[in-house]
Amino acid sequence: MIAPDITAAVLRDVSRAAQAAFPEECCGVLIGRRVAGRVSLIAAIASRNVAGGNRRRRFEIDPALLLALQRRLRHGPYFVAGYFHSHPRGTTRPSRHDLAGAHQDHHVWLIAALAGPGHGVTFGAYAVRGTGASRRFVAL
Ligand SMILES: [Zn+2]
Repeated sequence: MIAPDITAAVLRDVSRAAQAAFPEECCGVLIGRRVAGRVSLIAAIASRNVAGGNRRRRFEIDPALLLALQRRLRHGPYFVAGYFHSHPRGTTRPSRHDLAGAHQDHHVWLIAALAGPGHGVTFGAYAVRGTGASRRFVAL
């Protein structure tokens, strides 16, 4: 996939979600649209983190929210283009757990890292490449 354009509104909203969820991980869905062959991420829809385990290190997007968005967007021009989550007290690097949970290879993974409440947020955008043992995240 071609590196996505990410609007300032998306970065602002993900930043806010990461701050609000701290010290747990925030998560949500990125809505995109294709503009001249490029994916433009135009909205970030926050989800509850429904991970059953330690939500400071794990996230799971509410499947009901994801399904509702997919239904609502099925006729285009907007579509589910990826996901976001945060790494409280971490880096933007995707974890092994993130890779295991990344099923849609064409989706963008936006990761927001923050050191603590009130701290600045840094972003990394990734996509999955390769298969089998060479399957990995690459920075977009
Ligand atoms: Zn992660």
